[in-house]
Amino acid sequence: MRISIIGAGFSGCALATELARAAPEGVDIQLVGVPDSFGRGVAYGEARPEHLLNVRARDLGATADHPGEFADWLNLTERARTSFLPRLVYGEYLHSRLQAAAQLSLAGFNRIAQEAIAIDREGAAFRVHLVDGSDFLSDRVVLTVGALPPQPLAGIGPRLALHPSYVAWPWQNGLDGIGAIDHIAPNQRVLIIGTGLTMADVVATLHRRGHRGPITALSRHGQLPQPHTDDPSPPIALPPTVLQAINAHDLAGLVRALRALTPIVPDWRSLIDALRPYLQGFWRGLSGTQRARFLRHLRSHWEVLRHRLAPTLARELEELRTRGRLRVRSGRLLRARRINEAVEVLIRERGFSHASREEFDVVIRATGFDTDVDRTSHPLIAQLRDSGLITADPLGLGIEASPRFEALDGNGSPVRGLYALGPLLRAQLWEITAVPELRVAARALAKQLLQQERRASVEIQRGMEALARP
Ligand SMILES: Cc1cc2nc3c(=O)[nH]c(=O)nc-3n(C[C@H](O)[C@H](O)[C@H](O)COP(=O)(O)OP(=O)(O)OC[C@H]3O[C@@H](n4cnc5c(N)ncnc54)[C@H](O)[C@@H]3O)c2cc1C
Repeated sequence: MRISIIGAGFSGCALATELARAAPEGVDIQLVGVPDSFGRGVAYGEARPEHLLNVRARDLGATADHPGEFADWLNLTERARTSFLPRLVYGEYLHSRLQAAAQLSLAGFNRIAQEAIAIDREGAAFRVHLVDGSDFLSDRVVLTVGALPPQPLAGIGPRLALHPSYVAWPWQNGLDGIGAIDHIAPNQRVLIIGTGLTMADVVATLHRRGHRGPITALSRHGQLPQPHTDDPSPPIALPPTVLQAINAHDLAGLVRALRALTPIVPDWRSLIDALRPYLQGFWRGLSGTQRARFLRHLRSHWEVLRHRLAPTLARELEELRTRGRLRVRSGRLLRARRINEAVEVLIRERGFSHASREEFDVVIRATGFDTDVDRTSHPLIAQLRDSGLITADPLGLGIEASPRFEALDGNGSPVRGLYALGPLLRAQLWEITAVPELRVAARALAKQLLQQERRASVEIQRGMEALARP
């Protein structure tokens, strides 16, 4: 069996490692990924030294049955195990465990450092086309391409969109090999669109580079991610009111139960953490209307509680705000255009009907990731969508898939042999973007693929025995 994994970030590497460790001889694993972040992905490959993990080291093992593996790999002390380490270190860990698993594997293991641009059905298999014009056949294909490139920001003028004073992706390198953000002069007035974790990374980088000019961060609600505490809070068990709402898939009831509990529990973070193992099942049971309601009214509040900041980074942002160097505002960017060596923007503050005209030197998009398959410009995902091999979720949460990770076609039937893992599965699972959920899914999918392989081998064996009989 030939299994191809398209995308060599966390999801692709976790799945490839699980397969390499457990697959027998005769299985061929191809891990296809873009050369820049091969084996590390966007989160851990494109990071800078000041960018920190937002999960404690002790909980970040890439395998479901050994959450402490990362901390053990680094041989950390008890105190360091609860700290938030640089993401680059995590990239090294992922890369090294993949190497080790590939070396020891009984299966064939191939790394292909190229972008896959198209996948076509060919009989019961798939033909994978690479950017250099070559192609190969595979029996199973798993899409682990991560989140999709963010949609273009509405209101950005055409001249500005092509000018260096608009940074569409903060970690992108220019043709000169220098990062877009490194071109920003220390005294320039910076407007960041987005107030989430990407904004926090951008501010941390500007700060390290000695930025002195004013920084404004703008989002609809102007909410910053909440910080982790220095010392982890003890875990708690969910009370019956919450469990009942979860079991009944009652979104409004769950919100009511959590609100009632928040003033009572010693730390609300423990409540969110205790919820996580139940969330995929809860989400699966929600109707399309309930999911749409969640996205409209609760998503932004949920995200600032769930995706938290490392405490040192939270303190850094707070200090910059206190000193007036960072301003966080709630409102909408209506328009931005390049005029007289500056960027003129039109912002409507939340709660106001009129817009104000303001000037900045640089606008940086930090709007986080996207999963809208219908609108994406991602070449492979757009090709698969247009050829009908995948179907976009109507709420923009990736693709439609079965509980067994299989992509569904336009009729809702599984496309045999085509799977997805990672943020593309948000419609089915919602919480499937971070390490703790991804490692469980990677283990489950690897098991499923290898069971299929075992069944196929048994059938071949039986067939050969039948042929050999006189
Ligand atoms: C900046 C950032 C920080 C984060 N920090 C944390 C954290 O601290 N803790 C945590 O638990 N989670 C964190 N996350 C969540 C993160 O999404 C997951 O941890 C995980 O990295 C997702 O892995 P992935 O493989 O699904 O996606 P990605 O990491 O995005 O990897 C997908 C890879 O596939 C490649 N690819 C895409 N299309 C193709 C193609 N056609 N051909 C070949 N290759 C392709 C991409 O270039 C990329 O390298 C962070 C996310 C981001 C963006």
